[in-house]
Formats: sequence, structure tokens, C-alpha cells
Amino acid sequence: MDILLHMQAICKPTRVAMLTGSLLFALGIARCSSSFEPSDNATHRGSHRASGSVAPAAQASPSSSTASSDATAPPQRSTPTSDRAQVSNNELHALAKQAGRLERRVGETTLRIEVRVETQHISRDQIANWVAAVGGAVAAYYGAFPVPDLGVELVERGRAGVVFGQAFEGRSIRLYVGPETTLPDLRDDWILVHEMLHMGFPFLDERHAWMREGLSTYLEPIIRAREGWLTDEQVWRRWLARMPYGLPAAGDRGLDRTKSWGNTYWGGAIFWLLVDVELRRESANERSIRPLLRHLVDTGGNARVTWPIERVCRGADAGVGQPTFSRWYQQVARQPLAVDLPRLFARLGVGLAGDEVVFDDAAPLAHVRRAITRPDANRASSNR
Ligand SMILES: [Zn+2]
Repeated sequence: MDILLHMQAICKPTRVAMLTGSLLFALGIARCSSSFEPSDNATHRGSHRASGSVAPAAQASPSSSTASSDATAPPQRSTPTSDRAQVSNNELHALAKQAGRLERRVGETTLRIEVRVETQHISRDQIANWVAAVGGAVAAYYGAFPVPDLGVELVERGRAGVVFGQAFEGRSIRLYVGPETTLPDLRDDWILVHEMLHMGFPFLDERHAWMREGLSTYLEPIIRAREGWLTDEQVWRRWLARMPYGLPAAGDRGLDRTKSWGNTYWGGAIFWLLVDVELRRESANERSIRPLLRHLVDTGGNARVTWPIERVCRGADAGVGQPTFSRWYQQVARQPLAVDLPRLFARLGVGLAGDEVVFDDAAPLAHVRRAITRPDANRASSNR
């Protein structure tokens, strides 16, 4: 089953949150950036409704007093025997509650990981190490992980693998994971990368949701390729097949004005590809969307804030010292995306010959194509 085909047209939690934003915000739920929803909406509504009380950020927060008040509460019974029994029960209860919680550090960022699925083939430590590895990959791209702390909660759904994910307020991510998940399933997963990438971009008005979703869609395979988790052939095979979903349909009025699954994820991804290619082409790969994104995060533009689109455009342009981002935004926001994708791919030197991905290093933009997925020689300092 190809899960990409099951991504919904609109990020429903965002839409719900926009309708009732202040209430959800007050409850600590607001503006879920979820992109991959379960196919049955009843379950999704349930999980979203429950997030206010069980989001990992709330559970693992030092301000949460549940565990400590259990441990420090005065004995409830008067006899020594019952006191001991009570303390013992409380301790067992606390241990049981904490059994699925682990912490990992990614640079200065603390990842609080809560495993609430009984996996049969992998340990909680292996899960936590995987979460930390994905966090490290995102941090390597941004220079540092985009938010200072993050809760990652794994709950059971499906049989094997990561089924879908949700991100909440730049503070936590919930992954739905099957109990039969294996280590290879985790290595193949793209959903946690996608959700973690949402941490590195500000929230926007809902009509610009394609910009956030397109960024995660575009960057996710790049991040994985840079880490050696995907080959270039796998990256481009997917883009050759999927990018056309982002092309405008009849009656399209631009990415800000036409909501569809294709526009939101792949129209947005095409936008970021166009910006990235132009920046690289004009600078012999000295510039790219990477310093642009780093500048946004360095100036406070992570998933914990909502910015107007004008501020994002200003910051993005400032990050690379040229107005490429805002110019492309103007071109795609209120009119159909005008791009000749086959020509762009040909100029980048990539295409399909039958079922095979073929690279042409003599193509005029082959150097741009190669640089997009190239790992850093020095991960911490490169701007490419
Ligand atoms: Zn998303």
C-alpha cells in the first residue's frame, strides 16, 4: 500500500484548530500540523480530542506533578503494614508509568520519548535511538534542532511500521506504530522525518498550509539521502512519480486559493524545488534553501510561533540576500503554478528510461541535482 496516496487533501487538525483556535490554544492542543491522517476519521477525531490531556509535552513536563505527588504524598493508612503496602503500590505504579519514557539529547535539545505500544521485535531503547537519529539528521541540516525540547509519543495503531503522525504546537509529535514493527521498518520510515521537519518552520495562516507541508514533503527525502538512508535514485524516482500531482488542475487559482491534496503536498514541494534550484543555479551551489531556513529559525521562526506570510518572505529573502523566495511566492500564490516539470527534470539531468531512473551528468543543471542530496563534508558548517 502506498501511504502517500492516503494523505488527505487538507490538514484537518489545522483546519479544526483554525475554527476554534483560541480554545484549542488555551488547552494546549492548537494548530496541529498533522499531514498524514488515518483513513477513518472517527479514530482521528478521537486522537485529536485526546491530545489536550495526553500530549507528551504535557505528560513529560517538569510542571506535571502527578508522579511526584504520588511519591511524596503522606501515607493514607495508619498502620505500618498498610503504609508499606501503599508506598509499594505507589512505587510500582510510578515505575510502570515511567517504564515507557526515555530521554535523548540532540545537541542542546531534549527529546522526551514515550513508548505506549508493546513492540514485539524492538526494544524501547532501540526506538529511542531511532528517534534520536532522526532528530540528529534534522539538526544536522538546520545546524541545531529547531526547538529546544520535544515530546515524541508512540501509540499503537496498525500491525507494523509507522502508520501516520501528528505534530502539536512545535512541542510534541505523536506517531502511530504497529506492535510488529521491526528495525528495518524504522529505517524505512519517512513520517517522523516529515513531522520533525515541521518544527523548523513557523505556522502560517491556513491558506498558506501548502508552504509548510510542501517543505516537509520536499526536504524529507533530502534529509534521508544526506544521511545515507535513501539513494539518489530512490529520491528522484519518487519525485519523478509524485511531483506531477502538484501541477494545477482545471480551474486552479493558485496555491493560496486552491485547496487539494496535490497542491498542498506536491504543489508545495514543487515550490521549494523551484526556489532551491534557482538559488543553487545562480550561485554555483553556494546558496540554497538551507541558509534561508536556518535564518528563519535563528530569528525565531520555528513551529512555536505563527507568522504572517510577509514576515516569512522577508526573513527567507534576508537569509540568502536576494528576493528569490518572495518572487516565487508571488508567482504561485494567486495564479496556477506555471512550470514545465519534464523540462526542469531534463535540465537537472534526470528521467525515466522504462522503469529505470537515468541520470545525465552532461545536463546543464546536473551539478545542482547532485548537490541537492549530497551529504556535507562538514555537517556542522556547510550552507549548501
Ligand atoms: Zn505535514
